[in-house]
Amino acid sequence: MAICPYCKGEISFEEVERDTKGKGFFKQEIMYSCPHCKCVLGFSRGNYG
Ligand SMILES: [Zn+2]
Repeated sequence: MAICPYCKGEISFEEVERDTKGKGFFKQEIMYSCPHCKCVLGFSRGNYG
């Protein structure tokens, strides 16, 4: 469980919106955004799901 720094909404790992960017195995980035306010929370690179 995390708290969105923008809207202070609670975000569970299941709820967080993941948007995969890039193609292929090397350039893939996953963008996480708040399901409440849609603000971008961060990026993750690579082997995640
Ligand atoms: Zn938010």
